[in-house]
Amino acid sequence: MLLRLLSPLKYVHPEREKSMQTFIDHNKSTFLWPCLRACKARTRAGHPCKNWTVRGRARCRMHGGLAFGPTTEEGKAAIGRTHFRHGKYTLKIAQRRLLLKAIKWWELKRGVTCPRSLIDYWWLKIQKMPYSRVVKERAALTDKYRRVKKMVDKQNDRKDV
Ligand SMILES: [Zn+2]
Repeated sequence: MLLRLLSPLKYVHPEREKSMQTFIDHNKSTFLWPCLRACKARTRAGHPCKNWTVRGRARCRMHGGLAFGPTTEEGKAAIGRTHFRHGKYTLKIAQRRLLLKAIKWWELKRGVTCPRSLIDYWWLKIQKMPYSRVVKERAALTDKYRRVKKMVDKQNDRKDV
């Protein structure tokens, strides 16, 4: 273990890695420990692949590490259809959920019903956002909402007693 820490750039044969398998967390970045950078694929024999990954990727060159996914419009559409299950995570739904959260947050803060004009304004703004931004904003709002809601509930409980 100590040796491994001292010589992170040293090549270790995959077979010798076997005893260390329990320490390998495939999901973690191995920037400091490139010797642990094993391919995440499962082989036909059933055990995890022991090859090195292509730099910066999660798979070795045999298991799609060099692939960049579909390039044609047709191929992209096909992969979209394959991954679509129930639409819960589509952009439109994510946008709606963000809007609802924004309304909830505003109403919690002000204690009055959110005016229609404000909702329309938000909706226009949200519709211009990319998916990543929508998700991020909603997470931030949820966090704020939960914290304040907790405080409000606590105060209400004290009032009751
Ligand atoms: Zn592999």
